[in-house]
Amino acid sequence: MSELVLCTGNQGKVAELRALLPATLELRDLHQVGLPSDLPESGTTLEANALQKARYAHERCGLPCIADDTGLEVDALNGAPGVYSARYAGAARDPKANMDLLLAHLVGKGRAARFRTVIALIDADGEHTFEGVVSGSITEVPRGDGGFGYDPVFVPEGGSHTFAEMDKDAKNGISHRRRAVDALVAYLAARVR
Ligand code: IMP
Repeated sequence: MSELVLCTGNQGKVAELRALLPATLELRDLHQVGLPSDLPESGTTLEANALQKARYAHERCGLPCIADDTGLEVDALNGAPGVYSARYAGAARDPKANMDLLLAHLVGKGRAARFRTVIALIDADGEHTFEGVVSGSITEVPRGDGGFGYDPVFVPEGGSHTFAEMDKDAKNGISHRRRAVDALVAYLAARVR
């Protein structure tokens, strides 16, 4: 494999993946292979959504493709917001509204949670998925102004600061996304040997 299509319209994710994936891979984004930046994701699990996006792109461009999906899973809410994390409080995808709703649902409940990322790879060898998890807990109130999404209400296990209070590199070094990318990179490296 020498070319790999990153199925995301998020240039931040493209930059993060470029920094982590082997330099021997020629990375393409959706725009470069003539596809829209917003691919269909109508599944009810992270795995289904990641595979749906990667399949959509692979069927149209014929190149190896990777796609990811991430969710925040809260034990006391039976895994919600999970695959619906981005639009938990509605179609506006407003991070503050999402956090407010999450905190309202958690009053008096347990705070254990995890971020989970699934990356799907589809190439001539078939379909593969890679998972990255970071466990932690949900705070009583949002803290910090770094990061994005639910970062102000999530404290990773063993830490005392929220992701939004942590330095960007410190968060990215232990994040769910980083762990999923590491699993993908290990798989790709083993294949080229
Ligand atoms: P996506 O699959 O990467 O688009 O993530 C779906 C949603 O999960 C985002 O819109 C955020 O609400 C949330 N999310 C994903 N990754 C993170 C993160 O690293 N920190 C906080 N929230 C995140």
